[in-house]
Amino acid sequence: MRQISRRTMLATTGFGALSAGLPTAWAGSPGQTSAAQDNGAHSQKCSLPLTDYQPESMLHVQTTHVSRSRFSVIDFHTHVTNSARVVNGVAIGAARVYNGMPQDLLPIMDRTNVLAMVNLTGGFGAGLTDTISHLDRRYAGRFYSMTEPSYDMFGRADYPQVQADAIAQAHRDGARGLKILKTLGLFLREDTTSGPLVKVDDPRFDPMWETCGSLNLPVAIHVSDPIAFFRPTDHLNERYEELSNHPDWSFASPEYPSNAEILEARNRVFARHPKTQFVALHVGNFAEDLENVSANLDRFPNMHVDIAARLNELGRQPRAARRFFDRYQDRIVFGTDATPHGDQFPQQAFGDALYQIYFRFLETADEYFDYAPAATPPQGRWRISGIELPDSILHKVYNQNAARLLNIVV
Ligand SMILES: [Zn+2]
Repeated sequence: MRQISRRTMLATTGFGALSAGLPTAWAGSPGQTSAAQDNGAHSQKCSLPLTDYQPESMLHVQTTHVSRSRFSVIDFHTHVTNSARVVNGVAIGAARVYNGMPQDLLPIMDRTNVLAMVNLTGGFGAGLTDTISHLDRRYAGRFYSMTEPSYDMFGRADYPQVQADAIAQAHRDGARGLKILKTLGLFLREDTTSGPLVKVDDPRFDPMWETCGSLNLPVAIHVSDPIAFFRPTDHLNERYEELSNHPDWSFASPEYPSNAEILEARNRVFARHPKTQFVALHVGNFAEDLENVSANLDRFPNMHVDIAARLNELGRQPRAARRFFDRYQDRIVFGTDATPHGDQFPQQAFGDALYQIYFRFLETADEYFDYAPAATPPQGRWRISGIELPDSILHKVYNQNAARLLNIVV
């Protein structure tokens, strides 16, 4: 009781941060409690580096182990292959690297009830046909690959038509859709890797979007990034550790457009191509603001979302997330961003543990559990709760919605 009243007194007199035995050297004189002093006092008091802080939860809660999903899964968002060469954030050339080989992936898929992986980054040209022959054709029904734009050709005067023709060729070669990386809006420049940034709604892409619509190829589109990546990497940033580990993920510099500008340009693309089906990846890249995502889903009937690498956001607002799934149950697809051997990014490292966290979030009412298989939560220091979806919604999210978009029968 004495402690509480002392704390109250300190807070009301502006000395809240100086409570609990702070060295007098930091006390300052009355009326001089600036933010800088508070921070200095804080770092003096807590000598444990943030990176070493791995608190064990003392909370006793229900733990449900979900080893297999209740319905078979189409993982709409994976990266079995990637571009072999990236310059200034732009994939250059057709060559692919295989992050994992199908014979290593299939046993894990079988164990966890993952029927199929959609390999979004299948590339184009010879890289795409190679990918499709090694994955899609060899293991029919287990892998589906998408094509990507050939940004190498962006500088050509005839790029709009050449790119549209390349999509049609990729479709004939067996591609199941078009994937757009965040390259568009954040890295692609007039001279591909140099010059001014190209906007997401640049009209030179219009024939590409239209071709996807006419061929019934869904567009899996990732533009922008978590909102915290557009804020300074400082003590106020809730993704401070992650951005410190990956400084190149920060878009806080004025050379980049804002998150809002990018999403508005994306929305103009959705509006301009109503016959093209778009899957806005990572919950439309605004899972921090489900009201915003909902408003856009209401505006654009051709918009869908996946949930890849956003359990951290959905699971820290489980009641809002549950309402979101109820309302948009026909337009949400299951995705993880799974990358074989992607161990440096635990939230997307392909494996049993990753899938089981997704299943636990979707199927159970468990509370306060890790959203990624990692000692320290990699996308913000918090834990998540499950949303316990009913079977009717689970079935749609796990496979029915994706099957409809991909034009396949499950
Ligand atoms: Zn991805």
